[in-house]
Amino acid sequence: MLIKSAEFVCSNTNVGQLPAPTLPEYAFIGRSNVGKSSLINALTNRKGLAKTSQKPGKTQLINHFVINGDWYLVDLPGYGFAQTSKKNRAEWEKFIRQYLTKRDNLQCVFVLIDSRHEPQRIDLNFCCWLGEQGLPFMLVFTKADKQSMVKSDQNIAKFKKALLTWFEEVPLVFLTSAETKAGTDSILGTIGEINEN
Ligand code: GDP
Repeated sequence: MLIKSAEFVCSNTNVGQLPAPTLPEYAFIGRSNVGKSSLINALTNRKGLAKTSQKPGKTQLINHFVINGDWYLVDLPGYGFAQTSKKNRAEWEKFIRQYLTKRDNLQCVFVLIDSRHEPQRIDLNFCCWLGEQGLPFMLVFTKADKQSMVKSDQNIAKFKKALLTWFEEVPLVFLTSAETKAGTDSILGTIGEINEN
């Protein structure tokens, strides 16, 4: 898919004020610092579209972007800040749950995972919760340029194996780098296919 336009639509702290669900929507989510903003900028070819390096405790926002005038890309607040309080975490969960379970036009959640790390409990738990809710999701492993392909593949295999203790089959997996843009065409191609169906 060619990106002809990518525009910021709005930021929300309230799920009651999201844009009308008139276009198919794709949400991107992951631990803070996973490389979500960088990946969104790489996907859309816009350097400053998503703001990188959000600080812990910053207002949790749902950011909507409209791509090519025909689908929404949604940047969700990152989870798992090391310093975050229980209260912050509870608020994040409530806010994200409300969004994910009530958004009728949501086609797929892209869960971002740092390809350098062994499976982390917080990411596995989030995937399980998505599965329990019946929400379609795919896995996007980030920062592939930071280590060898062998190492990335090993971590992906471990993550898939961990998921298979809960799921009968694993979701689609992408290995990406915001630096080299590896994997970005595959993600856009998949979104294009879903939009056509
Ligand atoms: P976010 O908090 O998930 O939005 O993460 P950011 O996009 O702000 O990225 C966190 C840090 O990782 C920044 O210093 C980025 O430059 C770096 N980063 C993100 N993606 C990549 C990548 O694909 N390759 C490399 N080498 N660094 C990355």
